[in-house]
Amino acid sequence: MSVIKNMYAVGRNYTLHAAELGNAVPESPLIFMKPSHAAVLMDGGTVQLPDRLGSVHYEAELVIRIARTYEPGAKAEELISDFALGLDLTLRDVQAELKAKQLPWLKAKGFKNSAPITPFLRFEGLPQLAAASFSLKINGEERQRGNIRDMIFDLQTLIDHIGLHYGLGEGDVIFTGTPAGVGQISDQDEMELYWGETLLGSCRFAF
Ligand code: ZN
Repeated sequence: MSVIKNMYAVGRNYTLHAAELGNAVPESPLIFMKPSHAAVLMDGGTVQLPDRLGSVHYEAELVIRIARTYEPGAKAEELISDFALGLDLTLRDVQAELKAKQLPWLKAKGFKNSAPITPFLRFEGLPQLAAASFSLKINGEERQRGNIRDMIFDLQTLIDHIGLHYGLGEGDVIFTGTPAGVGQISDQDEMELYWGETLLGSCRFAF
């Protein structure tokens, strides 16, 4: 996999998903991070997950990679180099505990292999990203489908927010939030991420 530096992720960026978790729609983007060590390429192989920390949930997301240093006013069109699909994995029971105690999310969102990513495709402009939907199949059955047109905060807003507050530079990636349909992963589940009709990457999970 090409180099990934900072890995940002956005929570609650699709209305229906915020609703399914009982969360209010946020007024500004909810940003968290995963260590770059959490990334693992979806190349058809088996990905090991933690087995004694409660349920692991999948969240299929569009992932964008940044080509150059963010400056205020920079356009998403100029900053994005390529894009992929990814799974933002969450230890949901651990996250519930952390939320109740108002603790940071690292343990629930940043564990090793918590960010499977497909190979990247060349970015050709925002219309390209809106033209196709992405979807997740588990064991051959569709579970999630999303399109960037349904985002609460669009890519430009996310880039401006992250760039201004935290910084963005070459090699940084952003997991841009998940549509509705998240759920629990079971041992030996086969995950496939599609861009339109094209299979971009797959993996099998083992606990
Ligand atoms: Zn997510």
